[in-house]
Amino acid sequence: MSSRPTAPARPRPPGISSEAQESLQLIAEGITAIVGFGVAAIGLVRDDHLEMVAVAGSPQAREQLVGRRTPLHLVTNELEVADDWGLLKFVPHERLQSDVETWGWVPDLDPLEGPDAWHPLDMLSAPLLDGDGAMRGLVSIDLPDDGLRPGPERRRLLERYAAQASRAVLRALEREELEEQVRLAETARQVVRRASRQRSLGRILEESSEALVEGFRALGMWIQTFDEGGLGSGTIHATDGTRVQLPTGIIAIADRSAREAWAAQETIVVARGRLRDRLSDGEREQIVDFLDTLDIGSILFVPIGVGPEVLGNLVLTRAHGGAPWTATEATAALDVGRDLGTAILNVRAFEREHRLVKELQALDQYKGQLIATVAHELKNPLTSIVGYLEMLEAEEVDRGVQQALSAMDRGARRMVRVIDDLLLLSKVGDPSNPVIPRPVDLRAVAGDVVDLTSLAARKRDLTVHVEAPAYPVLALGDPDELDRVLSNLVSNAVKYTEPGRAVTVALSRAGDEVVVECRDEGFGISAADQERLFTEFFRSTNPVAVAQPGTGLGLAIVARIVERHGGRIELDSELGRGSTFRVRLPAADPVS
Ligand code: ADP
Repeated sequence: MSSRPTAPARPRPPGISSEAQESLQLIAEGITAIVGFGVAAIGLVRDDHLEMVAVAGSPQAREQLVGRRTPLHLVTNELEVADDWGLLKFVPHERLQSDVETWGWVPDLDPLEGPDAWHPLDMLSAPLLDGDGAMRGLVSIDLPDDGLRPGPERRRLLERYAAQASRAVLRALEREELEEQVRLAETARQVVRRASRQRSLGRILEESSEALVEGFRALGMWIQTFDEGGLGSGTIHATDGTRVQLPTGIIAIADRSAREAWAAQETIVVARGRLRDRLSDGEREQIVDFLDTLDIGSILFVPIGVGPEVLGNLVLTRAHGGAPWTATEATAALDVGRDLGTAILNVRAFEREHRLVKELQALDQYKGQLIATVAHELKNPLTSIVGYLEMLEAEEVDRGVQQALSAMDRGARRMVRVIDDLLLLSKVGDPSNPVIPRPVDLRAVAGDVVDLTSLAARKRDLTVHVEAPAYPVLALGDPDELDRVLSNLVSNAVKYTEPGRAVTVALSRAGDEVVVECRDEGFGISAADQERLFTEFFRSTNPVAVAQPGTGLGLAIVARIVERHGGRIELDSELGRGSTFRVRLPAADPVS
């Protein structure tokens, strides 16, 4: 037969398992039934309080005591003056210091006469200690059946029960702590995993708040971040997207507390009546009053930071009457504060980078506009200068003037080339002027380009030929711009190759791309020059190459056109060995 009580489900203190509660209840029952006491109660120490978890015997006592929390110092004060009965501590009623009614239960009984008579205010208990001697619980016994203070025989029996209770309590607490650690480790893992991927503080909060609230069994939470460059009012982000309006006085306390707590690597629990919280009485009052307006009973205040830097704070909340915050929770929360700190710093670095990119883009756009405007302004007067020079050159003038005029004409035409290249560069670099693509057969483009450069090639005794398949090589793009790509590459190949050599333009198809290769057997390009080859105005450091006329804009134009067509450009070159420029462009008739 089981001796288990079939009592209706009693309120179970949060955290303790039902098996643990049941075994403590059985021990209490044993004390009442076997040792012969009217009441036996077992309490656990939690958050500086003694919390009654099992009461056997008198139904009134049970009703009054289960779940009751007594500040631990009241209990330890009494124990200090107790008679030492081994594991048991006995405080005769005449030595009792506090009003037991505030935390214990006083039986309604008339004491017997005599020195051994039990008095209703006598206190008999057994502190339950852990391996380090810290008190983790307490067994309290009252109301001996025989009305007498226990003799040696009953004390021994009681001690046996106390030892058993000790083991049960320690097991229960250990298990509870272990479970809590596992749960919080999982929470912290989730927070790191989710928060570290985010690119904004709002997203960090969105992604981690559910895990935090659930893992810490909180009612809600908010995060306050301090502005970059120091502490300040910062911004408050609450879980449900609502803005928590913190009174300025409280923000100032939060700022200072976060700094102090981060330096000490501690969390802070704030609740009415709880004193060990680094706050002055006035500050605590201010905070708990504010928390009352939100129906919050207690908060776990967690500093957020990285290295020596404090970045803000995380506040986890619990309702009135909610479980106290445990030491394990505080430790885990501090870890979360560090992880959030790293995530926030990442977000800031990302935002800074993003801002910088935006600024650089704006600067680039401004530069493009400036170049375009200046080029436009120069183009018209220059055109008229070139026109008048042509007219003057047609006049009958003496040789000296003729030479001067043709030098001016060469200079002016060079300026026109630079300005035309600048205007084209700005046009192909302007995102508001996108390519309007259509199929372009590159065989036709290559043919035209080779025809146009044939004169220059002949002058340098070079052969230029095209290798192309019999079928169309269709790129998707703007025909004029693609013409420009090929003509710049081919004219460079012609310019930068010694006489007598060959230049080849090869067209082919590779998957969804078409490939144009411009190969020469010319000067080649050094590895150092290759790094800057496509930047505006770059001209080679090779003196043989620089001797050829050029603006340094041709390849920059090629690169921009290829890029805005969604293509790529590659270069194989070696100084003295020739160069191959390879351009890949999206095909107009993709395979898939
Ligand atoms: P430009 O020809 O007007 O100087 P580009 O932008 O077309 O300007 O070319 C930049 C530089 O790259 C040239 O000055 C030249 O030194 C080098 N370069 C370009 N194409 C070749 C090539 N095919 N062989 C050797 N050097 C080349």
